[in-house]
Amino acid sequence: DRLTSASANREDDLLDASIRPQKLDDYLGQQAVREQLAIYIEAARRRGEALDHVLIFGPPGLGKTTLSHVVANELGVGLRSTSGPVLERAGDLAALLTNLQPRDVLFIDEIHRLSPVVEEVLYPAMEDRQIDIMIGEGPAARSIKLDLPPFTLVGATTRAGLLTAPLRDRFGIVQRLEFYSPLELTSIVRRSARILGIACDADGASEIARRARGTPRIANRLLRRVRDYAQIRAGGSITREVAGAALEMLKVDAEGFDALDRRLLLMIIENFDGGPVGVDSLAAALSEERGTLEDVLEPFLIQQGFLVRTARGRMASKKAWQHFGLAPPSRAET
Ligand code: ADP
Repeated sequence: DRLTSASANREDDLLDASIRPQKLDDYLGQQAVREQLAIYIEAARRRGEALDHVLIFGPPGLGKTTLSHVVANELGVGLRSTSGPVLERAGDLAALLTNLQPRDVLFIDEIHRLSPVVEEVLYPAMEDRQIDIMIGEGPAARSIKLDLPPFTLVGATTRAGLLTAPLRDRFGIVQRLEFYSPLELTSIVRRSARILGIACDADGASEIARRARGTPRIANRLLRRVRDYAQIRAGGSITREVAGAALEMLKVDAEGFDALDRRLLLMIIENFDGGPVGVDSLAAALSEERGTLEDVLEPFLIQQGFLVRTARGRMASKKAWQHFGLAPPSRAET
């Protein structure tokens, strides 16, 4: 497991229950998203209606699942969670939908991975609160329409572009999560430290935040590893020095890059002359899946200006060459 991978591991899942924000006020950062949702939620509550369907997109670990919990809590309704790949048959989704209480939230993670037959069930459910189910088999089979209670579908995906147009069009509210600033992540680290009962001063928190790739899940994970180090080697409190020493030991550098990020950038620089190199060739050279490259590794490197996506492929920016103490070729104007 990569320490700075944005995907959840088992330990993350176990700790999530205690750290995960339950209310909008605890959901730090994402100011624009929070302000808008607060209005829509309050309006739906006052009218006693279900909130419009919400699509949340953004790279892994930025708080999509968390936001679905927050939305349900703020609405004061129940939450059912599932994910695209888990819903194999139309009946799986129908069972979930028909068991919802009025105004409940149904969260579907990785909604872009729904199979086409399941997606077909979702359209009328979202639009007309109806589903068609087949009863019986063979010539005697017939379809009956079932009415559903009003409900809110919250769908999450890493990239909005992965969704089919008919599905995307059925969401009334679309929110995009951005990478968090170091300052926002500092608040998140301090909050988590408080909940976990670890002494962590502002400088210690900001040292962790700076290297967390703009991602709360990574910030929380680094905090746990730094906590271990602090408890065994440094008397239990996290200060800038302690955090710095721990993260150095963990080989998380000042940009929050780990070995895989460095390998990716160095691969482009050394093997492909700085690029452009097609994403498939790059994935093959790294022995990584293209999807991992695009969804997990690249977004942060692109946002930070180390990697550039061009029509002809990926390029290492000037900043990337400089990060490794190398002189960029003069054509690398990026
Ligand atoms: P995603 O579903 O986008 O992969 P999660 O919702 O599982 O991400 O968030 C990962 C972790 O980061 C959660 O455990 C949560 O505690 C923390 N987190 C996410 N967003 C926030 C936030 N805005 N404020 C505080 N903690 C957050």
